[in-house]
Amino acid sequence: ESFAGDQSGNPQPRQTPGVLYSKVMPSPVREPRLLAWTEDLAAELGIDKPNEKDIDLLGGNFVNPTMQPYAACYAGHQFGNWAGQLGDGRAITLGEWPLPSGRSWELQLKGAGLTPYSRRADGRAVLRSSLREYLMSEAMYHLGVPTTRALSLVATGDPVRRDMFYDGRPANEPGAIVMRAASSFLRFGNFEMLAARKEYDHLRQLVDWTIERFHPHIDGADKTLIWFEEVLEKTATMVVEWLRVGFVHGVMNTDNMSILGLTIDYGPFSFLDAYDPDFSPNTTDHPGLRYAFGKQHSIAYWNLGCLANAIAPLFEDTADLIKTLESFAPVFYEKYYAMKAGKMGLDNVSDHDIELIDQFENLLATVQPDMTIFYQLLIELPEDMVDEPAIVSHFTPALYNQLNDADRVLLSKNIKNYQTRMASNKISRTAAQSQMTANNPRFVLRNFLLYQAIQDLEKGDNGLFKRLQTALQDPYSKNHDEFFGLRPFWANEQPGSATLSCSS
Ligand code: AMP
Ligand code: MG
Ligand code: MG
Repeated sequence: ESFAGDQSGNPQPRQTPGVLYSKVMPSPVREPRLLAWTEDLAAELGIDKPNEKDIDLLGGNFVNPTMQPYAACYAGHQFGNWAGQLGDGRAITLGEWPLPSGRSWELQLKGAGLTPYSRRADGRAVLRSSLREYLMSEAMYHLGVPTTRALSLVATGDPVRRDMFYDGRPANEPGAIVMRAASSFLRFGNFEMLAARKEYDHLRQLVDWTIERFHPHIDGADKTLIWFEEVLEKTATMVVEWLRVGFVHGVMNTDNMSILGLTIDYGPFSFLDAYDPDFSPNTTDHPGLRYAFGKQHSIAYWNLGCLANAIAPLFEDTADLIKTLESFAPVFYEKYYAMKAGKMGLDNVSDHDIELIDQFENLLATVQPDMTIFYQLLIELPEDMVDEPAIVSHFTPALYNQLNDADRVLLSKNIKNYQTRMASNKISRTAAQSQMTANNPRFVLRNFLLYQAIQDLEKGDNGLFKRLQTALQDPYSKNHDEFFGLRPFWANEQPGSATLSCSS
C-alpha cells in the first residue's frame, strides 16, 4: 500500500500490524526552489552542486530509479504517556548513500507529503520549521554535538495550512522540505512498537540488524545487553553535550530519541539565553516542564527505561538489563562533571571539584546570566581579580537583571573559590584558557536570530540567513561577534522568538 487516506483524500489514523515500514512516494510540489545547500556534507557524500533535476528530487518531484522510498513505522511515549503507533508522518527515506569508506548515509525528505503514518496531519512542513531544522542541525554538527544533518532546504512553492497562528499572521504559510541525512533515523520508538505488538521475532531481527550494522564489534551471548549499554552510553553523551552548549530539545518523546544517540527531530528546540534550568521552549510542555533544560538527563533515563522495557522480552533473565539501566546515573555524572570541568578550565575532577561545580551550577541557576556570555567572560577573567565590585562589573555584560545584594555575594564568593582552585591547576593558564575556548561556544544560534532570519526570508531577503549559516560553521571563534550579545528585550514575549509550539 502506498498511500494513506480515504476516498476523499483525508488521511485517517490506522494500524499496520506486522509492518516495519511502508513504500511510499513523495508527493509533487508546485515549484521547488533551492534555498540552501550544505557544501561540506555534499563534498563528503561526493554529490555535485544540484542541477535542475536534482532540485526536483530534493523537492520530491522526481525519484531516481535506484531509490526505493519508504516511511518507517514506529511508536512512542509522548509526554510520559504511551501514544501507540506513530511512524514517519512526513518523512520519507529515499534510500541509502554508501561511501567508499564503508559508511552509509540514510537520506530522508522531511515534509514531502502524506505517508501511511500521517494520521490526521498533512505530511508537510512549513518554511519556518524547516529552516530551523536545517540551520540548527548544522549548527549542532559544527558545535561537535552528535546530530543528524541537513543537506538541503527547498521551498516548495505550495502554501501549507496551519491551525496555529504564528505572530498573528494568517494560517497559510510557505511550505519547505529539508533533506536530512544520518547513519540511521531509527528511534527508541521503532523497538517499542514491535514490543507493544508482541512481534518478538521482528524485534529480535531489528535488534540484530541494528547491532550488526552499527555496533559490528559486539558479539557473543550477551550482545543485546552490551548493545543496550552502548545505547545508554551514547544517549548520556548526547545529553551531556546538550548541557555543554545550552541546548534544550523540547520534545524528548521516545519517538524522538535516536537509537544512535544523535540529536534528532528538531522542533520547538532552543538554546538557553538566560541560564534557567526550568526553561522549556515548548509551549505545549506546561506546567510540569517535563522537557525543561535541566531535566533532560532524567528524561533520557526515563526514555531508556522505555527502551529497556521494549527489549526485555528478548531476555530470559532481566536482572542484568535492569542493572545496566540503573548505571545511567553514574555513567551520566562522570561525563557531566568532566564536561563542566572542561568548560571551567579545570585540569581534573576531584571530590572537592564536584562540590565547586555544584556550587557554580547553583550560582548560574540563581543569578541566571546569559549562559554563552557568562562562560566567555569566565575565560577572560583576570587571575588576580578577587574583589567583589570588580567581579560584579566583569560579569555585568552577561546579566539580564541587576543583582541584589545576596546575588552579588553569591557571585563573588563563587568566583573567589574558583580563582583559588584555578591557582592550583596543574595545567598552565594558557592551556586552561584554550580548553575553555574549545568547550564554550561563543556563537549559538539563538531562537530570536532564527526568528529574524525567518521573517526576512519570508520577505525574500536571505542576508541574515546567509550570515547565520556562515557563523554557525565557526562557533568557537571571535569571527562572528556581530551576534555576540544578550537576547534583545523585544524577543522576550514574542511568540516564536523565545518559545514555540509542537506543531512547528
Ligand atoms: P513530533 O512530535 O514532531 O516528533 O511528531 C510526532 C509524530 O507526528 C510523528 O510521527 C510525526 O511524523 C507526526 N507528524 C508531525 N507533523 C506532521 C505532519 N505535518 N504531517 C504528518 N505527520 C506529522
Ligand atoms: Mg518526531
Ligand atoms: Mg517533529
